[in-house]
Amino acid sequence: MEEMTLHPYLPQLTGVDSNGNLYLHQLKNIHYGPIILTPYEINGGLSYLCPACQKSPIVKQQLLGQVIQCATESCGLPIKLNAFTTQVVVKTEEKPKRGLFSKR
Ligand SMILES: [Zn+2]
Repeated sequence: MEEMTLHPYLPQLTGVDSNGNLYLHQLKNIHYGPIILTPYEINGGLSYLCPACQKSPIVKQQLLGQVIQCATESCGLPIKLNAFTTQVVVKTEEKPKRGLFSKR
């Protein structure tokens, strides 16, 4: 295998060999518990990015550290929210990087 990647929320492994062949492995007898996510602060509230539905529902502060189901109605993925949060920092003025040793 040249590269292997775990599925973000299912017990599946994807791999590519040196000939470019793609392999999908179902991991048997492995049952995931709730997916652990770190909520982030946004617009004065808390949210998380669900790996299943790709939505970012708002969550209440008192749910930190708890196991919940994704708040998106059609999703319901079991999620454990970390007790800590991160803060999203948006940089508006970033020049394109030219590599590790860019000239100034
Ligand atoms: Zn979801």
